[in-house]
Amino acid sequence: MTDVHCHLAALPTKTNGCLLSKRMRKSAITHLIAWAEGLPLDDAEAANARYLERLSAELGRSKTVKKAVLLAMDGVYDASGRLDESKTDFLIANDCVLNAAKANPAFLPGVSINPSRRDAVEEAERCADAGAVLVKVLPNAQCFDPSESRFRALYKTMAKRNLAFLSHVGFEFSLIGQDQSVGDPARLRIALEEGVTVIAAHGCSTGLFVWEKYLGTMKELIARYPNFYVDTSALTLPNRVGALWRLSRMPEFNKRFLFGTDYPLPVFGWGKSTGRDNRFDRQTDVLSAHGLPPAVDFADLPR
Ligand SMILES: [Zn+2]
Repeated sequence: MTDVHCHLAALPTKTNGCLLSKRMRKSAITHLIAWAEGLPLDDAEAANARYLERLSAELGRSKTVKKAVLLAMDGVYDASGRLDESKTDFLIANDCVLNAAKANPAFLPGVSINPSRRDAVEEAERCADAGAVLVKVLPNAQCFDPSESRFRALYKTMAKRNLAFLSHVGFEFSLIGQDQSVGDPARLRIALEEGVTVIAAHGCSTGLFVWEKYLGTMKELIARYPNFYVDTSALTLPNRVGALWRLSRMPEFNKRFLFGTDYPLPVFGWGKSTGRDNRFDRQTDVLSAHGLPPAVDFADLPR
């Protein structure tokens, strides 16, 4: 099985092209991940190497997951399509995931291209040439609207080069108070119309727990577009477990649910874990126990 949603974490070094804002450097999430993963925040090279070693080892030990799409994270771009470092909280460079995949064939490169960057099409071509399998975006944090028609050229290139489009859906907690509407999966229609394989992250859940306003849209997109999928990443987290419960009651859509973890986030068992501590296997176990066993493998999607 392939994990379609696995994050690379990397601190900026002089050469790796990554960014981390002062705000994020101080944030509780950064420290929590560093602490949980045993990473030295004051030594970027060592922290980056250790993160990849630990991820490779955990994936290598998994009984159920053999490959993982390793995700980069692009930044925010200004109106002229240039990187706006002042608005970018963190950036994980595409070359980091491309290089990691070269070093370990269990990783598939999931690059990140903000469609509003001026060289978006060229970057998609370059990454496809280097073996990328998908483009990950987070519209709320990257400050763009995926439904803008000026992005059609990029979507056409992605369809042509077999790059899937994995988009975060719903509320983004690090952006409270900003425009959240670009997290609506209905805004992915243009990419779907251009024939791109679109994957909405986290089962289309908002992450707000109380109600799932995008479930109707999800059903409609599944019915209308054979190239629309959702991933099951993060669905065992407390704020998304309501969506896990709802999706498990839609067995008719099983063939559109792609397995994902949202590594390195923890996997909660909800009383149904089988006691395995490997995060990939735990996610498989918990999803299966809730009636959502992985049904389609990203590696087997029509291309
Ligand atoms: Zn994620």
